[in-house]
Amino acid sequence: MELKDKLEILADAAKYDASCASSGAPRRDSVGKDGLGATTGMGICHSYTPDGRCVSLLKILLTNFCIYDCQYCVNRRSSNVPRARFAVDEVVKLTQDFYLRNYIDGLFLSSGIIQSSDYTMEQLVEVARQLREVHKFRGYIHLKTIPDADPRLIELAGKYADRLSVNIELPTQDSVTRLAPEKNVHTIKLAMGAIRTRLDDRDDHPKAPAFAPAGQSTQMIVGADASDDRTILDTAQTLYGSYKLKRVYYSAFSPIPQSPDSVPSAPPPLLREHRLYQADFLLRGYGFTAGELMPAAGNLPLDIDPKLAWALANRDQFPLDLNRADEAMIARVPGIGLRSARRIVDLRRLRRVRWEDLSRLRCSMKKLAPFVVTADYKPAQGAAPSELLRRSMADAPAQMNLWPELQAA
Ligand code: SF4
Repeated sequence: MELKDKLEILADAAKYDASCASSGAPRRDSVGKDGLGATTGMGICHSYTPDGRCVSLLKILLTNFCIYDCQYCVNRRSSNVPRARFAVDEVVKLTQDFYLRNYIDGLFLSSGIIQSSDYTMEQLVEVARQLREVHKFRGYIHLKTIPDADPRLIELAGKYADRLSVNIELPTQDSVTRLAPEKNVHTIKLAMGAIRTRLDDRDDHPKAPAFAPAGQSTQMIVGADASDDRTILDTAQTLYGSYKLKRVYYSAFSPIPQSPDSVPSAPPPLLREHRLYQADFLLRGYGFTAGELMPAAGNLPLDIDPKLAWALANRDQFPLDLNRADEAMIARVPGIGLRSARRIVDLRRLRRVRWEDLSRLRCSMKKLAPFVVTADYKPAQGAAPSELLRRSMADAPAQMNLWPELQAA
């Protein structure tokens, strides 16, 4: 098979994996070294950095042959799709060629499982080894980690890759047992734990060998099983706390032609994935817990964002006097982000905060209006019923854009 035909099949097969990101990677500086160049440490396939740059990774599978039969996956062994397999040196050459032509900032490499977990992981590691050691490649590398591969291979993967990811795929063991019978949440968590231990070693011992400087991430598929958003967020919260994950990625399930009956025939609303990303951002950056955002089982509302939903459900904590409240609480006000909360507190050292200051800080005035008090402003809607506020602030479909931070994933 021609290389370009393999590329077409194996790039297409990789598109379902949302877990590639390079945020948080320190710069691999090639100044004074004989490497092929340097990355700024940012990169995701056809996505945007916070400063608006479009960056890209060559995102491919080594092969879409697989001995597993995960029901939600287009590459499962029972799937009737065209198959292909790259040789290690083909991936190495493609990466170099694309990098030198400035098409990509790095490589995201995953694979179906062939022969055994160890064999597959050896192949993935060998690509990264050759790029780094033979070709002095200094671009970004994200390697998918096969959970039950030999820990020595995961160690080697971390030596060469900027980021490692182990996909948990589904939030509960029950769902994994039903839809991915060859997989096991316990094994997946053991692999994440092993990576975390090595990341801790690296952080505690500055002279320790480099290991996955951009940390580890994972992906959960949304809507392939019956798990609700509360379950998904609980799992994400546990993963962040226990395994020092940089990011959990959420990927809306896409039904595949000839999918088995065990998975839905329709995708979940794409907005559900977006609301999960927003809630995830609140877990990581704002100190919310999954239980605060969702006190009961169920899914996040689609018509309003999770922070607004929380504020409307906790009206007793508002309106908040921005001249007295602490920074963490100010950041919980809908329409005020982390940076604006910091600036409001800084401003208070000089003078009392006024309404127009919030506009100057580019806060979302419509959203925050019912929830704040300033030196010259008290909300007329302070006593308005939450349901009325909700209707007046529900996102119009055309306005449901991703938050800028999410585009930076
Ligand atoms: S292990 Fe499962 S999810 Fe991964 S490629 Fe194979 S069938 Fe797909």
